[in-house]
Amino acid sequence: MPLRPDASTDLLIDGTLVPAASGATFATFNPATEEPIGRAADGGGDDMDAAIRAARRAFDTTGWSGDHAFRARCLRQLRDGLQRHVEELREVTIAEAGAPALLTAGPQLEGPVADLGYFADLAESYRWSTDLGPATPMGIPTRRTLLREAAGVVAAITPWNFPHQITLAKIGPALAAGCTAVLKPAPDTPWCAALVGRIAAEETDLPPGVLGVVTSSDHGVGAQLAADPRVDVVSFTGSSATGRAVMVAASENLTKVFLELGGKSAFVVLDCLDADRLRAACATAAFTVATHAGQGCAITTRLLVPRHRLDEATAATAAALTGLPPGDPADPGTVCGPLISERQRERVESYLALAVEEGGTVVCGGRRPPGRERGCFLEPTLIAGLDNTARAAREEIFGPVLAIIPHDGDDDAVRIANDSPYGLSGAVWGDDPARVDRVVRGVRTGTLGVNGGLWYSPDVPFGGYKQSGIGREMGVAGFEEYLETKAVAYAER
Ligand code: NAD
Repeated sequence: MPLRPDASTDLLIDGTLVPAASGATFATFNPATEEPIGRAADGGGDDMDAAIRAARRAFDTTGWSGDHAFRARCLRQLRDGLQRHVEELREVTIAEAGAPALLTAGPQLEGPVADLGYFADLAESYRWSTDLGPATPMGIPTRRTLLREAAGVVAAITPWNFPHQITLAKIGPALAAGCTAVLKPAPDTPWCAALVGRIAAEETDLPPGVLGVVTSSDHGVGAQLAADPRVDVVSFTGSSATGRAVMVAASENLTKVFLELGGKSAFVVLDCLDADRLRAACATAAFTVATHAGQGCAITTRLLVPRHRLDEATAATAAALTGLPPGDPADPGTVCGPLISERQRERVESYLALAVEEGGTVVCGGRRPPGRERGCFLEPTLIAGLDNTARAAREEIFGPVLAIIPHDGDDDAVRIANDSPYGLSGAVWGDDPARVDRVVRGVRTGTLGVNGGLWYSPDVPFGGYKQSGIGREMGVAGFEEYLETKAVAYAER
């Protein structure tokens, strides 16, 4: 039977698909048309309370956290169920998140679904206990063992921009580790999360309470989840401002937090590139910032180029950006879809106005595309003439906006790249391996692509330095975020 979102079954609480206890629903919009596409259950405080209670009970009173093989089986069932419904999920992801269809073949959908298999494998292959061997601390002959155990109930709070990637990169490792989880998705993308909950309920053996999903229009329901003392780990992805609020709320109970936050990543071009390679670097930077209308935390939004090649780099980047006009995300050729909402478009436009006030120039783009009456589209934009002290060059805009900034050599490029409160991602292009290596080691950031290399894979930990976050998602490091360590000392007789 085809999978259709339905507000009367959007919430997953204690193994049952239910409407909001209040019966409330809210509209979800298509940012490419600005039309409502339907309604989602508007979960409230009571629903969240029930979901947390069920997750706590499932963790404390069932064998879930100790049965690694069963968890691996459930995760593979979830992967297989999502794959069976991939076309329905694709349609909803394009409609709700404005995600370009081409990205749904990768990180917007099919990639993270397949990656559940990686976490299932980890549940089976992970070394859950390590023998540290004998020792005689304070003269007592002792054999020491380290046990790795599930951390408990996980609060998974997610944004709208890559709804499946972020949801599954939390739920996958959390469940593989033996935790139970309550997912609170962004109000902009409730259906994406509700469909994952539906498939989990109907097509897997996940026991009741192991996974809860509470869609809501109310950010306060997320705040409630972060502050609940029954939660053991808050796993949050979103803006740095909200991350701060989450950390404050969690601190009341000294709950462990894992934060994936914003970014203002640098794309560093070294002057050892010849003209063709410099053009290729600039085209890559342009493609990156146009992708999903720049709504990715790890997108490089500052292009640092050698000062003496600024004109050449500006022309190449502008030409590439102009070739990536915004378009219907359902069209397989579209790279730059809409911004998520009119509010977000206005926010991006206010940054463009600020950039001009700060002395910058809009080299290309910056307009609502002529002839497109509907949809939150904005042309990919190149800003020149700012230095790294300008707010438009420092703050996360979350739109298709690239600031091109000159540097005076490799050390200066590293200095500018690091002159940011963020440290999430970045790129380096250069043909001299020793110089590239110095820059790679100098930039303080969680991921870096060199000459077009892509770090996105299930076994690669992703996360930020500085105000871009705390902890890592994906890879073994991401899995271990959901574990505790217990050291056991046996007296030798
Ligand atoms: P947001 O911070 O507004 O919201 C994220 C989630 O937090 C939503 O589910 C929201 O309902 C919830 N929320 C809001 N207030 C809360 C509170 N006080 N307590 C608990 N939960 C609360 O972010 P957004 O606008 O949905 O997404 C865009 C932001 O996410 C950007 O800043 C982007 O950089 C960031 N992001 C980061 C990563 C990463 O991995 N580093 C990935 C994607 C997006």
